[in-house]
Amino acid sequence: MFDLFGALFFVVALAPEPKIPVEYQEAWATIPLRYRQLVTRVDLADHPGRAYRAELRVEVPRKVRASALVHEVMHVAMYATPELERGWERTFWRDSRPLGWPQSKYGATNYREDFAEAAEELHENGCLNEPLNAVPSREAFLRERVFRAEELPTLPFGPCRR
Ligand SMILES: [Zn+2]
Repeated sequence: MFDLFGALFFVVALAPEPKIPVEYQEAWATIPLRYRQLVTRVDLADHPGRAYRAELRVEVPRKVRASALVHEVMHVAMYATPELERGWERTFWRDSRPLGWPQSKYGATNYREDFAEAAEELHENGCLNEPLNAVPSREAFLRERVFRAEELPTLPFGPCRR
């Protein structure tokens, strides 16, 4: 009998990953596989980084910055997941203005950069800079819908709260 689940397992397990520039391979490995598998290409470029919606490919700076790779891959994750994009925009933006606590000035420019900056920050530090019980909470959204706990750094000194 045809083993549908076995076949699906192989399709998922064998989904290709792009060729990664050697200087970014360590950073690449820290990104959850389900997001890596969405990316069609990773190229070096002479600018701080860019993600292309139509092609789901990214460019990262020649001068290695691991957080730039995470940032650009998270753009691809959003571009490839319409319900994630809609959910983020509806939760954190109103009339082209951010609600709550964007994680940087750049993140406050539009919902796409807001998402990439917040995801990058949480992936790097395991917490976001927002008040306890923030509403709306970027950290809560990302923990529910984007990262599993075991994919984030754990903090040696307890919850990251100010
Ligand atoms: Zn960006």
